[in-house]
Amino acid sequence: MHDLPDSIPALWSAQAHMPSVLGRQLVIDRGEGNYVFTADGRRLFDGTAGLWHANIGHGRPEMAEVAAAQIRRLETYHVFGRYVNDRALELAEKVASVAPIDDARIILNSGGSDSIDVALKLARRYWQLRGRPERTAILSRDLAYHGLHAYGTSVAGLDFNREGYGTDSLVPDTVRFDTYDIERVRETVERVGPHRIAAIIAEPIQGTGGVIPPTPGYLEGLQAIADEHDILLILDEVITGFGRTGEWFAAQRYGLRPHIVAMAKGISSGYSAVGGIIVAPELWRPFYEADAPIYRHGTTYSGHATAAALALENLAIIEREGLLGRVRELEAVLETELAGLAGDDRVAQVRHAGLLGGIELRPEVSAEQVTDRMVEQGWIARPLRGNVIQLSPPFTTTDAELRELVAAVPTAMDALRGAPV
Ligand code: PLP
Repeated sequence: MHDLPDSIPALWSAQAHMPSVLGRQLVIDRGEGNYVFTADGRRLFDGTAGLWHANIGHGRPEMAEVAAAQIRRLETYHVFGRYVNDRALELAEKVASVAPIDDARIILNSGGSDSIDVALKLARRYWQLRGRPERTAILSRDLAYHGLHAYGTSVAGLDFNREGYGTDSLVPDTVRFDTYDIERVRETVERVGPHRIAAIIAEPIQGTGGVIPPTPGYLEGLQAIADEHDILLILDEVITGFGRTGEWFAAQRYGLRPHIVAMAKGISSGYSAVGGIIVAPELWRPFYEADAPIYRHGTTYSGHATAAALALENLAIIEREGLLGRVRELEAVLETELAGLAGDDRVAQVRHAGLLGGIELRPEVSAEQVTDRMVEQGWIARPLRGNVIQLSPPFTTTDAELRELVAAVPTAMDALRGAPV
């Protein structure tokens, strides 16, 4: 056993190599607009919008007022059985009105990982109900990130998130397929047997896997495979939902017709813990008929009233401030700035879609070191798998801030080159 420091915080951080973070944690204690402030008073531009979620920026007074008013009236009431609360009803109507699925029904819960679990359970439950219990296989992309609950862990395409849990038995019958080449996806489907496949799940633009936009025709190819073999298509729009690509959903940008869409993050921009799924009529109708079984889902906080009130206000802000159009403008700025960076000999590749940017560095430069240096210089960016730097600032970012954020990458690389080893 190695010696541990005398004083260790009680909080066990998420996705952290604890020995490396102890003693160098960044305590964020205030947020305002596109900036957050550390407990020791440093101002940092939030170049990732936290974990791709703080889309309307931080510390909005109107959100504080909505929360306070809702709590005074009713903090929450559950939505089990015949009970329901008005805010959950309203949020579901609002989401259905912008959804990429007509006549959708909405299940609400507390975050992205919850959404993945309920989506994949619903896919299997649906085939059981249809008298096709052999359709249990779930196919997901290499490099996929679908959260870290049981289903999300089992369908992860990032091996480091699967390792160590006996994943093949955690949720059996999950298979990975190629992220780039649709012909290889077809081969996987044939190998597994299309009649055995419950669902294909995919992030339209892979986020944590390294900001990987779809290759031309890839998503359309997934749609065609799903249509051809009667396989359910589930889109994980936890990152892309609610405007990150300049449309309410990436499904609309790419012209897709999913059966289920998983959502979280941008639905509330992080002002409350909300997630959920958007369900096509084909799937919800069999559970609404007179002789239907109960679909056994739900948690205490499904449809939490204060969480829903905040999500509603967030969506109203996106509309009032024209933030979808703003993302489209910012996408053009990001594209230009990244193109400028592509010529840098330390950069292997630049990628973007909507207000999502990825800068892949050559192996001689470490994305982790660069982003550490960027934070020292006041810019939050995040290293992702594949030596990639994630840039995904709030929708309220100015053109100038976005230009400076991208420019902070070579500045940090220059500083590292000059730094003593
Ligand atoms: N799906 C995708 C594509 C994500 O990026 C994430 C989180 O980053 C999740 C699911 C899980 O969401 P949460 O962390 O809210 O559980």
